[in-house]
Amino acid sequence: MNYHSMSADQLRETQSDLRKLYDALCAAGLQLDLTRGKPAPEQLDLSNALLSLPGDDYRDSAGTDTRNYGGIVGLPEIRQIFGELLAVDPANLIAFGNSSLELMHDLTVFALLSGTVDSAKPWNADPIKFLCPAPGYDRHFSITETYGIEMIPVPMLPTGPDVDACAALTAKDPSIKGMWAVPTYSNPTGVTFTEEVTRGLLEMPAADDFRIYWDNAYAVHTLVDEAPTPLPVLEMAAAAGNPNRVFVLGSTSKITFAGAGVSFFGSSTENLDWFKRHLSFKTIGPDKINQLRHVKFFGDADGVRAHMAKHREILAPKFRLVLDILDDRLGDSKVAAWSQPEGGYFISLDVIDGTARRVIELAKEAGIALTAAGSTYPYKNDPLDRNIRLAPTFPTTDDLRTAMDGVATCVLLAASETLLG
Ligand code: PLP
Repeated sequence: MNYHSMSADQLRETQSDLRKLYDALCAAGLQLDLTRGKPAPEQLDLSNALLSLPGDDYRDSAGTDTRNYGGIVGLPEIRQIFGELLAVDPANLIAFGNSSLELMHDLTVFALLSGTVDSAKPWNADPIKFLCPAPGYDRHFSITETYGIEMIPVPMLPTGPDVDACAALTAKDPSIKGMWAVPTYSNPTGVTFTEEVTRGLLEMPAADDFRIYWDNAYAVHTLVDEAPTPLPVLEMAAAAGNPNRVFVLGSTSKITFAGAGVSFFGSSTENLDWFKRHLSFKTIGPDKINQLRHVKFFGDADGVRAHMAKHREILAPKFRLVLDILDDRLGDSKVAAWSQPEGGYFISLDVIDGTARRVIELAKEAGIALTAAGSTYPYKNDPLDRNIRLAPTFPTTDDLRTAMDGVATCVLLAASETLLG
C-alpha cells in the first residue's frame, strides 16, 4: 500500500510489523556485502585461460619481443581490438597497464603540473573546478578532491548530464577545466548518454583547456541483446571544433581480471603526444606480455563481445533478482525509486529524501554492508540524502536474495519513521 496515503494509525501498525521483521533480520547474524562493484569469482573463471597465455610465443604480429622494454603506446593488435569497441581510431589509442583510474589520475596530475596543450601554463585558476555529474563514481571524485579541485555537481538526467546546466557554467567560468563522464551504463545510474547530449557536451562553450574524461568503463558490459553503439566521440569533438576536448578511457578490468587487465587512453594526436611525453618520464613501457595474452585470448572484437555474453549469463539473473525484490517489496509503497539498468555494474536506489543515511545505518546493524552514505556525490555530500548504490555482481544469488530482502525492510522502516515524524 502507498505509504503516503496511510493514516497515522495505519503507519504505526505497519511500522510495528516492520520492526518485528527487522528484529528477526538482526537476530539472523548476517554478514553480507553489497558495496563492491567487483566481478564474482565465476566471472573471473571465464578468463582463466589467460593464466597459461601467451605460452612460449612471446612475439606480437610485428615480431616485437614483448618480454623486453619499449613500445610505450602498447601492442597494435590490442589497440585494434579495443579501438573498434571504443570507436577510437587505433592510431589514436594507447594500450597501457592494469588500471584506467591510474591513467585518469596521471592525466590530472600532468595537467595540474604542466598544463595541457591548450594551456599557456599549468592548469591555472584559484580554485580549478570540475563538473561532476551526480550521482557519479566515487573514485573520480576522490581524484579531484585529493588535488584540491573544486567539484561542482551537475544533475544526471535519463539522457546523460544536464547539458544546459553544464553549458551555463562552462560558458562563464574559464576556471572549469574538466568534467567526469561515464557515457555508457553510467556508474551508478546505468544511464547511457544520447548522441544529442554527447554533441552538446562537445560543442558547449568552455575554456580552451577544458577536458572531458570520457570514461567508457562499461562500453561492452551489456545485460541485453545489444550493447549501445559507441559514438566516435573524438571525431565528433574535432567536427565541433574542439579536437582536444576529450580524453577517452577504458579497460578490461571487468572483462577479464579486474586486478590484471589492460587499460586504454584515446585522444587527439596532439593530446597523445603530450601524454606520451609526460609518461616517458615515469615508465619505459607497459606490460606487453599481458597485452599479448589478451590478444591471443580474444582474437578480435567479436571475441570480446562473445566473452561479454558469458558475463551476461552470470549477471543478468542477479540484476533481475534485485529488481524483482525491489518491485515486490517496495513497488506499492511509493517510498523508493530505482534504475532499471541495461548494463554496467550497479543499480541506483533513491529512497525518501533524508532517509538514505538511516537505511544504510539500519542495514549495517543487521549485518548488511551498503556503500557509504553520500558516496555517489562530490565530497560525499548527497544534498537530499536519498541515493544508495547497490552492487549486485559479487555476492552469490542466495546472499543477494537475503541481503536485498533485508535492505527492502530497512527502506520501509526508515520511511515509516520519517513519515511518522
Ligand atoms: N571507471 C568507472 C566508471 C568504474 O566504475 C571503475 C570501477 O568500478 C573504474 C573506472 C576502474 O577502472 P580500472 O580498474 O580500469 O582502474
